[in-house]
This record gives sequence, structure tokens and C-alpha cells, in this order.
Amino acid sequence: MIDKFPPALLYHKVSPRGEIGVTWVKPDAFKRQMETIAEAGWSTILPGEDADTKQFLLIFDDGYECIYKYAYPVLSQLDFKAIVFIPTGYIGSTNDWDYQLFGRRFAHLSEAMLVELSKAGWMIGSHTVSHVDLLQLSNSQLEDEIAGSRSRLQDLTGQGIEWIAFPFGRYNQRVMDVAVNKGYTGAVAPVYRPDIVIPEGFNLIVADAVYLWSAIGLIERILRRDNGYRIHRKFQKLVNGSSYGTIIWKRLFSSNK
Ligand SMILES: [Zn+2]
Repeated sequence: MIDKFPPALLYHKVSPRGEIGVTWVKPDAFKRQMETIAEAGWSTILPGEDADTKQFLLIFDDGYECIYKYAYPVLSQLDFKAIVFIPTGYIGSTNDWDYQLFGRRFAHLSEAMLVELSKAGWMIGSHTVSHVDLLQLSNSQLEDEIAGSRSRLQDLTGQGIEWIAFPFGRYNQRVMDVAVNKGYTGAVAPVYRPDIVIPEGFNLIVADAVYLWSAIGLIERILRRDNGYRIHRKFQKLVNGSSYGTIIWKRLFSSNK
């Protein structure tokens, strides 16, 4: 089932500043990764487009400012386009939704940066309004998170917002159904769930996260989907399980906000 999706690389932060988590990549490593992929003949497509051979999706979750600073210039040089998923309640603000060790906060993209990326041909997607665990919300809260982020991004960029990524990769049938009802045509998730019915005409893309230590060799195996790729998928399930730790942590230390 997963092999029917085009290969998709998912990044979070591209930053020289470290943090405790594993979902960040240093700018020089990111540059090397993208240049190596380009030299091997790969190019990017955007969600909803049909992939040719050697085409892949490049995805950024959370919409950090560092994407604009460190990833965008590299990608422009290579003529690569990406989709970036934005939690709209944090545009121009810092990542208070995430747990913080040692008080480290990361800035999100500003309105102006978002508009520039959109004009440069990047696709903008919704990552809800407040980056909360959607499974915990009432129906009306869920609808507000999913529809509110879409209309804000449409107003801001003038782009039709058709894709959503669920915070912490957490979704169920109810979340999926609301996304469909609110006009999305597709979702990106880190894990495929065979128990969830995906409505006709809706697309789900399963993306492979790139971690701090991901070597170019592994990234190429992900793109080609050969040896080592399935082990990576198993590891990703583990990390996705631990991203739920962020939610628990935040509940325990919510005074930290
Ligand atoms: Zn996120």
C-alpha cells in the first residue's frame, strides 16, 4: 500500500541551533542532501501532481522561520519546490505549542515570508490553528481547527489550500472525515493506518521524516525505496509514538508556557 505513494521527504527544522529532539537537520547537511539528490537526477513535484520516475515530494512541517532562512535559498538554486504546513495560530510567533527544554524557542514564519514562499511557487498547507492533538477535541473545536486554518491561509496567500498535515501525525476516522467535509483534497501523515477509510477522491501521502543523523545514503534508499527503507519506516513509527510525548509533557508542564 505505502509503495503507491510518491517518495516524500519530511523535514521540520533546518537550523544550526540544536535542540533535544531528533527532527532537525543542520543547514550544511541539508544543503549537501539536496545537492546530492539533484545531482542524482531527482526533481520535486507538489502534492496532487503525478510523479514521474525520479520525482519526489519535499515537505516541511510546522512552518519554522529557519525554513525560509536556510532551506529556501538552497532549494531556489536547485529549482526545487516544497509544501510547508502551517499552524496558523503561530504565524509570526514562537513555538509555544511544543515542549521546551532550557527555554529554547523557535520562531515561525512571518506573514510576509509565507506570502513570498507562496509567490515563489511553494505550496502552502494547513497544520491546523493551534497544533493540538486533534483526537482530544470536541466536534466543534475540531471543525474550527481544520476549517479556520484553511480560510486564514487562503486569505493570506490567495492560494487554494487543499492539503492538511495532522499535528503529531495523529488522526482517526473522525479527523479524516472532518478534513474531507471542510474541503481538503489530501493529507500528509507519517504513518499509514489501514483501519481508516479514506473517502473516494481524497489522497493520503505517507512521508518519511529526515532525522538529525540521516545520512545521504539512507535518504537515497528512501527515495528509491530499497534496502533499509522498511527498517526506517519501523523506526519512524517509534518516533511518531514518542512525539505523543510532547503532548503529555506539555500537559504536565503547561505552566512553562
Ligand atoms: Zn507539527
